[in-house]
This record gives sequence, C-alpha cells and structure tokens, in this order.
Amino acid sequence: MRIEIVDLNFLGAEQIIASFLLLGEDSAAIVETGPTTCLDSLTGGLKEHGVAFEDVEQVFLTHIHLDHAGASGHLAELLPNATFYVHEVGRPHLVDPSKLWKSATRIYGERMGELWGETRPVPEDRLVVLSGGEELEAAGGVLAAHYTPGHAYHHLAYLEPDSGALFAGDVAGIRLPGQSYVRPPTPPPEIDLEAWVRSIEEMRQIAPRSLCPTHFGRFDDVERHLGELEQRLQSWVLFIGERMEAGAGRHEIADELRQEGDAEMLAEGAMPGESGRYDLAGDYSNLVDGLMRYIAKRRQEAGSE
Ligand SMILES: [Zn+2]
Repeated sequence: MRIEIVDLNFLGAEQIIASFLLLGEDSAAIVETGPTTCLDSLTGGLKEHGVAFEDVEQVFLTHIHLDHAGASGHLAELLPNATFYVHEVGRPHLVDPSKLWKSATRIYGERMGELWGETRPVPEDRLVVLSGGEELEAAGGVLAAHYTPGHAYHHLAYLEPDSGALFAGDVAGIRLPGQSYVRPPTPPPEIDLEAWVRSIEEMRQIAPRSLCPTHFGRFDDVERHLGELEQRLQSWVLFIGERMEAGAGRHEIADELRQEGDAEMLAEGAMPGESGRYDLAGDYSNLVDGLMRYIAKRRQEAGSE
C-alpha cells in the first residue's frame, strides 16, 4: 500500500486540511473527505494519482466534524463503490446531517457556506459503523481502528501497520508542516480532558512510527509530539479554569491564550505569520469556548454530587 497526502487547499490556503489516499494494486481508500468546499481538490488529487472513482472501495472517517467528513454525502454520489466507515455515534449525523449543520451554525454563523459548503446525506446502505478494535482490509493492506475520544466523543484513529502511520484526525492536535508546535483543537461541544489524556496514552501504546494529523501531514517525533500536546491541554485547562474563577470573559481569555501561544510558537522557531495559519484549523475564540464549556460542565457535575 502506498500512502499519499492530498492537500485540500482549504480556503485557498496550503497545507491546512489533508485527505490521505491509500493506494493498492487495484483498489484505493481514502481517510478523511474534507469539507464540501474542498471537493474539487480531493477529486483532483484522485485524478493526479491515477485513481478512478470506481476504484475507491472505502472512505474512513475519524469523526464527523465538517472539516473532516463534510463532503461524505457528495462523495457517496461520486464514488459508486465506496463504503463509508464511521464510529457508531457519528452514523446518524451522516444519514441526516441537519442536526450537525444546526450545531455548527451556532459556532460559524453566516460563514457556514463559505467555510464548509452544503452537506448531503450518505445513504444508510453505504455506511458501516465501527467502535474501535476492528481490523479492516483496505487498498491491498490493513487498517486498524482505534477508539480515541476526547476531541469528540465518537473519534477514531486508524493505524496502517506496514508503515506504522497513524491517521489521527484531531486527537493528536494541530501541527502544520515544518513546525514543532502542537495546538490542541478544543472546539465545543464535546471536549473531555480525561478521555483525551487516555487517548494520548492509547496512542503511546499503539506506538506508531508516524502521526498523521488531518491538520496537517506526517510527523515522526511521536513521543515528543504527544508529550507537548498532553502538557498543553493540561496547562490550558488549568489556566482557563483560573481565569474563569477570576471572572474573566471568553474574549479576554482567548486574547491571553493567543498571546501565550504566539510567544511559545516563536520560541519553537515558527515564523510570525504561522499562528494565523493554525487559526484556519482552530482559532482561539472557538478553542476557548470549547474548554470553558468543558470546565463549566465539570464544575456543575462536582457541585451536584
Ligand atoms: Zn474535529
């Protein structure tokens, strides 16, 4: 099996959202569809690698967020032989994307169309649900599904054992090519720190030779990367909890987190504009909203015990 990264050129920007092509002798599979707005880049990538639409037998989704799976309904129409794999909890949202659309509209408002484009349902008979632990034949090889919640309740990561590549969706964070900085994607509404930390431990156990985050690419320094992600998640939750305690609002907290993050990125050798590129995969207001929601929920649970 050959693995190729297709740059979906999200909003015309390079290397923000990836789709991964798995190419076998006479069949192919895709990990992540990207959003509908990137459909042309994805089909262009298939053509560029000589993959006929009929040859794509599987589409593996890490989770159903629109930047990862938004184009699934359109792809079901374009790829007549493809079966779509998703965690069982994500399945209803592919069959009927209207609830997901509504919930995303609360975050993105008027920018929904420009960012993600239209979503279409995936026919039920094209979907297979997973819960993690499955080994699936794909593109002449194998993919192993691992349940990795934390960023989303229904998140899966997929290991390709030959190369040791782990297609990590969002659970291994955001890290752009040429950078070492790992930004935790923590949007509303399902962030769960404890589950995420367990998933990071699970990824350590899997011990992949490389991590392939959808945002973006392939990185070999697995231990260091996961360590940085875990540490930053923990320190963000502590920091935001303290600031909430002190009465700070979401804008204020997002500004503070941005300043800290920008300084850390510079210290890790990033160019000044790089933070804005990371924002395309997860901006601070959105990430702070997700963590504030998580922290408030935990406090409510603790209060009602
Ligand atoms: Zn996501």
